[in-house]
Amino acid sequence: MSIKALKGFKDILPTEVHTWQRIEKVARDIFHRFEFSEIKVPILEKTKLFSRSIGEATDIVEKEMYTFTDRNGSSITMRPEGTASVLRAFIEHSLHALQPIQKLYTIGPMFRHERPQKGRLRQFHQISVEVLGTDLPRQDAELIAMAWLLLTELRLTVSLEINSLGCPACRPEFNQALIDFLASCEGPLCEDCQRRRQTNPLRVLDCKDENCQEQYKAAPSIIDHLCPACTDHFQAVQDGLTLLEIPYKSNSRMVRGLDYYTRTTFELVTDALGAQSAVGAGGRYDGLVGQLDGPKDMPGIGFAMGIERLVLLLEQQTETSEPQGIDIFVVSLGTAAADLAFKIVHTLRKSGVQATMDLAGRSMKNQMKQAGRNNARYTLIIGEDELTKGQLVLRDMQTREQEEIAFTDEITPWSKALAAKLLNK
Ligand code: ATP
Ligand code: MG
Repeated sequence: MSIKALKGFKDILPTEVHTWQRIEKVARDIFHRFEFSEIKVPILEKTKLFSRSIGEATDIVEKEMYTFTDRNGSSITMRPEGTASVLRAFIEHSLHALQPIQKLYTIGPMFRHERPQKGRLRQFHQISVEVLGTDLPRQDAELIAMAWLLLTELRLTVSLEINSLGCPACRPEFNQALIDFLASCEGPLCEDCQRRRQTNPLRVLDCKDENCQEQYKAAPSIIDHLCPACTDHFQAVQDGLTLLEIPYKSNSRMVRGLDYYTRTTFELVTDALGAQSAVGAGGRYDGLVGQLDGPKDMPGIGFAMGIERLVLLLEQQTETSEPQGIDIFVVSLGTAAADLAFKIVHTLRKSGVQATMDLAGRSMKNQMKQAGRNNARYTLIIGEDELTKGQLVLRDMQTREQEEIAFTDEITPWSKALAAKLLNK
């Protein structure tokens, strides 16, 4: 039997890759408008980078990481998300010394051993964005506005939910209120929640079990337990969003799956992808850089979008565009014409034109068919007659109009002139 890809690992085929490229292009373009720089970080990291940042008692660290022992006996992990690695690089290279506010993004594969389903894979791709060095609420609003702009420019409709998870001053009080509430829950809780109740009570609110969620309707709300500083911060974030006319909904049940979040958290959600409702999510993580032994009190905020989910949404919500055709197919008959075509095609390509030809010397009919399959805008026909007459035929494949262009022996300047003409059309 032939070897297949691993479960949850997917090839991105040429038929869909143009959608991926479009997403990445729009993202990079927008991020540059907001003064972000790209950073590329390794896929493998020391395991403790993730257990210390994401948190020991989270689903990711407890059961989703691809962790194994390296040949020299050290424990390494294939990154399940981007923030930890970007922060590790930020600290390792003292990037804050270069610029007090660092705006960074990275695009690449992440790995989580989850149950594969629509929009949920084991290798998936994220566009991951971080801003380090400021805790101003306007920064939160600006970052959320950037995520919103990305989805808008992709012509996707999603909704924005925001919350605040408080800070080390007010979170413990809320935690205690939640522990008391959980102790008073009468119905049975799922196994995960019974465990979370002891290890990480906040995480219960994120449970996907309907029965648990029903009981948590009566749970205390974190918004009621925020300290004055966090309340003001959250209000200012909302004011910023309102100023920028970004519609949002406040959702006090949103807790996110990673432990490092403080204050603002947000999710971009859709009901078009079944259970996989979040296309992007993020939040503030003011203690994280310090926790990773970087400069103390270095605030940060970030978000990540799942490219697979964006692709699925684009397929559903927008007319998927056909992959673009090529500019010109050069049809040639006979050896002399083929030599000429070979040189013309290369010169056209050097001049920025998408040009191609048949290298195998097939019949005219076959070459025209190939030009059709390539969705060529033009064909240039070089047959024996054309060569003797010194007139080549340029055919517009849509209108079927033909024009003869006089050919000179100066192939390079002639091809360059043709390239200029095609690029101007
Ligand atoms: P979910 O609740 O769907 O598991 P999450 O909270 O684990 O999402 P994050 O860790 O915040 O997700 O990652 C940000 C984004 O990355 C998600 O909104 C989603 O678009 C994408 N994502 C996360 N896990 C996967 C996965 N296994 N397959 C595909 N995309 C994913
Ligand atoms: Mg998850």
